[in-house]
Amino acid sequence: MSLKLSDYKTKVPPSTQWCPGCGDFGILSALSQALFELNIEPHKTVIFSGIGCSGRFPHYIRTYGVHVLHGRPLPCALGTKLANPNLEVIAVSGDGDGYGIGAGHFSNTGRRNIDVTYLVFNNEVYGMTRGQPSPTLKLNMKTKAMALPNINDGVNPIAWALSCGYTFIARSYAYATKDLKEILKKAITHKGLALVDILQPCVTYNDIHTREWYEYTIDKEKDMKRLYKLEDTGYDYKVKDPNNEEEVLQKKTQAFVKSYEWGDKIPIGIFFQIEISTYEERISTRYKEYFHKPPALQEIENPLTKTPIKDISKLMETFIV
Ligand code: SF4
Ligand code: MG
Repeated sequence: MSLKLSDYKTKVPPSTQWCPGCGDFGILSALSQALFELNIEPHKTVIFSGIGCSGRFPHYIRTYGVHVLHGRPLPCALGTKLANPNLEVIAVSGDGDGYGIGAGHFSNTGRRNIDVTYLVFNNEVYGMTRGQPSPTLKLNMKTKAMALPNINDGVNPIAWALSCGYTFIARSYAYATKDLKEILKKAITHKGLALVDILQPCVTYNDIHTREWYEYTIDKEKDMKRLYKLEDTGYDYKVKDPNNEEEVLQKKTQAFVKSYEWGDKIPIGIFFQIEISTYEERISTRYKEYFHKPPALQEIENPLTKTPIKDISKLMETFIV
């Protein structure tokens, strides 16, 4: 039976729906299309989400989905990918979930380079709890939910990901669904940990960085919009030789510098990509005894005697209280 785009659709009860016009709908549409075009079937895909408006994402798409604790989609995704590398594993967070509560996981998963795709819906506010400033809201910014301007500065997700070891780093925009879909396809097919930071206007609580603000035309004569594509400038994001330290440093440095461009002009697209060994590859080399086959694919029963291959009765005894 051939796959249809409608195979990814599901129904969400009104009590858990996003606000009408929320940027999350653009991300949902782009990811559904990306999976469809890559011919990745719903039952071979698992999506982990944390807490916040983005946490509802698995409810909106008909794949396997797990709505986990605040800031924890990445460790759950990592464990699942290790257990069964045949699954397409995707994690989604909001900027609060991913860059605030899950900050430790963001850094340490980056160091491992597991083959997982991480989407962060970046709207600079905690939307689900009524618009408090999130870790990406910059110093002195003030949204309508705040009594006073932000006393903290915001993190730079692209620069942060670069320093942790993410091997595919991109920024996109929730309403540019076609561009976002193409970036997601590249992130999903990338062998290693991919971060896509998605500028996602929160229509209810962020009244400063709105759809109009992002799509503003800076120069009418030159038809220059605030958001511009890196690929249109000849920007070369891909490391050709991962063993060439000079090239790696040059590509990282240019991505770092570009990531600080913000205001009248904001670059979107892929900032950096490199192909190196994944965590799955390293761990299966080191622990051959356990990873001669991924755990979820190992036989648990002797086919002739129909008895368990591994006796776990002693382990089970430890759970008896
Ligand atoms: Fe979207 Fe903001 Fe509404 Fe949350 S509060 S669903 S981010 S518009
Ligand atoms: Mg948010």
